Amino acid sequence: MNIYGKNILLNTGWVEDKTLVIDDGTIVDIVDGKLPNAEALNIIIPGMINCHSHAFQRAFAGFSEQGSEGQDSFWTWRKVMYQFLAKLTDKDAEIIATQLYIEMLKMGYTRVAEFHYLHHNQQGNKYQSLATMARSIFCAAKNTGIGLTMLPVLYQYSGFSQQQPNDGQKRFINDVSQFNALVSECFDISKGIENTNVGIAPHSLRAVDKASLHYAVKHVRSLASDAPIHIHIAEQQKEVADCIAHYNKRPVQWLFDNIDVDQHWCLIHATHIDEQERKLMVEKGVIAGICPTTEANLGDGIFPTAEYVNEGGIFAIGSDSHISVNPVEELRWLEYAQRLIRQQRALLASTDVPSVGQYLWQKAAQGGAISTSSNTGELAIGKQADLLVLDDSQMRLFAKSRMHLLDSLVFASQKPSIEHVMVNGTWVIRDGQHPKQAQAEQQFAQLLDTVTA
Ligand code: ZN
Repeated sequence: MNIYGKNILLNTGWVEDKTLVIDDGTIVDIVDGKLPNAEALNIIIPGMINCHSHAFQRAFAGFSEQGSEGQDSFWTWRKVMYQFLAKLTDKDAEIIATQLYIEMLKMGYTRVAEFHYLHHNQQGNKYQSLATMARSIFCAAKNTGIGLTMLPVLYQYSGFSQQQPNDGQKRFINDVSQFNALVSECFDISKGIENTNVGIAPHSLRAVDKASLHYAVKHVRSLASDAPIHIHIAEQQKEVADCIAHYNKRPVQWLFDNIDVDQHWCLIHATHIDEQERKLMVEKGVIAGICPTTEANLGDGIFPTAEYVNEGGIFAIGSDSHISVNPVEELRWLEYAQRLIRQQRALLASTDVPSVGQYLWQKAAQGGAISTSSNTGELAIGKQADLLVLDDSQMRLFAKSRMHLLDSLVFASQKPSIEHVMVNGTWVIRDGQHPKQAQAEQQFAQLLDTVTA
């Protein structure tokens, strides 16, 4: 398939009047002008990668926003989550993820890393196939056409010092041998579904012990040397204080001192880090997985993005709790939080790419690709054809100069501005629509009626 773009954002920057030659899901050539059989389009940019998703949380987004009961916090939100997910079946999980992944595609996410911790049945007993719940997520990816990086979560304890899990956590818990068996099952499932891969996600330092962490890393490395490894690291100040009390070290520091962390690690919510930890992250080449709208919604805090990026740090964005499913909003918040703290403007940019919108889009997509070990995140020969075509009816309302195009998209757009979406060489969204969206919405609404009744 060949597609012509009047304006295309390649890895090297904007180009005009080129045709992307796509074969078997990959961009195999980029040629001048329009090839005769190419579909003519205006503005083409790379698809965004969502580095952090807990799919089932989409179904109770907005359920924990009442202020009447006094001060709300991350921990009261977590209570709502536990009550909700105690009821979900594997079929429910597929319905939620299918609806969510269609929403993601329509908003410009072409790949998602699913930090998947709902493993067992409602009673907390293991399914005959350990990967039953994970399979629901794989099916949702297959149904919708989004690229998937499955990250089964190792969750053992409810807090440091190996505290016993509470009742709300019984569906998450595996010992490390059972967890490794689950990971192997996920690798087998992934082999049968195109554009998916598998890594692991030790939930957090409070939820796993050191020996198990080593064992889980060793196992996944034996299956794939580049398997992504994601961990929640320092989302809450309480978590940092508990880590210092237990290990006598801050979480990121402890991780680097005790585990062989390489460039395939993504530290989710490294929100509360000190300068030394920030420099270590940059030096080791790990990815900071930042989830601006969720971190704002939960009152977590603000990652020191400006300093980290200036030092050469790699980042990716995630929608996490799915209070928002929109990469534009994540990137807007990422920049605005820095502006509000520093009382300055246009912070996340570089001399090479002075447009904040373009800089954020490209860096987040490239970081997201690394965080998922996928051949995505930019448009170039040899890269997977994951791309977005912006909607001319929206974009014509903004600055015409290519220099300002993504600034308009990130900071000024009020409506979804994506017309078509291609994943792995196949159109999955045309004219803003997914072929399965009506059915997905109906099933999702029905499910909400039942589980919230
Ligand atoms: Zn998370």
